[in-house]
Amino acid sequence: MNDNAGPTDLSERFRRLIRETGPISLAQYMGESNAHYYTRGTPLGQEGDFITAPEISQMFGELIGLWLADMWVRAGRPANVHYVELGPGRGTLGQDALRTAARYDLTPQVHFVEGSENLRQVQRGAIPGVTHHDDITTLPDDGPLLVVANEFFDALPVHQLIRSASGWHERMVGLDGDRFVFVGGDKPMDSIVPESWRTARQGTMIETSPASAAIMSELADRLVAQGGAALIIDYGARELRSGSTFQAIRAHRKVDVFDAPGTADLTAHVDFEMLGKVAQRQGAQVLGCEMQGDWLTALGIDTRTEALQRKSPQTKDVIARQRARLVEESGMGLLFKVLGVTAPSWPGDAPGF
Ligand code: SAH
Repeated sequence: MNDNAGPTDLSERFRRLIRETGPISLAQYMGESNAHYYTRGTPLGQEGDFITAPEISQMFGELIGLWLADMWVRAGRPANVHYVELGPGRGTLGQDALRTAARYDLTPQVHFVEGSENLRQVQRGAIPGVTHHDDITTLPDDGPLLVVANEFFDALPVHQLIRSASGWHERMVGLDGDRFVFVGGDKPMDSIVPESWRTARQGTMIETSPASAAIMSELADRLVAQGGAALIIDYGARELRSGSTFQAIRAHRKVDVFDAPGTADLTAHVDFEMLGKVAQRQGAQVLGCEMQGDWLTALGIDTRTEALQRKSPQTKDVIARQRARLVEESGMGLLFKVLGVTAPSWPGDAPGF
């Protein structure tokens, strides 16, 4: 799927840029590589580079649809409600969630924030009539938003910062001959280091994503102003930890992060502590941040598994394995977290949190 014409160009472009202007930030390297990566080919699925929860089982999207419908009903069934997905991939989650929500008379307008034209086409096939947006600034402002972001934030650019004797500096991408290498930056970066980390010991490295903070901040503002709820699901920790989580995945394998930029999926763990703090600071209600396994179990994935198995006894084992992958520790159950955020005027308690 990923042909090789463009990516070589991207490597060359980075090399020229670094030779002319000096090392670039990891965030720039990651942002431009992923923009390139997501506009080409089909990153998702068996044939692609990685598989996500909604592509494993319909139960994932169904339980999200159920959760959203429950919130909407308890918020008093407001009119003019919009379903918003950030980075909807193949549109599978949206299909499963909306089919389930419709059983509770929740039939929102659908808005997808998607950067890739290829994926937009696939998404139009899944959800005819969907409205696409380049970013969240153009989302409607005339009603509550039900926002879902699954494996979206992990693709947003991070900066890596290292504490040296003279304060915090950025880990940059430079060149050794033609090879990309990490080099130390000289600009002081203390201002973007979270308060509680400013005096960490020498050698400590953290990742931080101002791009993610900016999106969370605007989403929270909109929830406060318009009503609604958001589920952010991704891999990462509930509290920021030190160390690098930056990685590249191609054809279901980890590869060198500097190998052919634009041809692999570059990700970093999501800093849920930061996302929660930003949402709270903007006045939104944070319901909590749970492990995906616990959240899906609380939402009733076991009952749903049994129902599907009764309907399709010949694929009983397949369905059991899909459930395990979503829920168990050996699968996505522990590493993936679910962050719930609502408008202050919406219910402050919710299933799963
Ligand atoms: N949510 C889907 C897909 C996850 S892959 C699923 O669970 O299967 C990441 C998705 O985010 C893709 O749709 C990708 O094209 C999109 N994406 C990544 N970075 C983006 C950006 N900066 N702006 C808009 N969409 C982006």
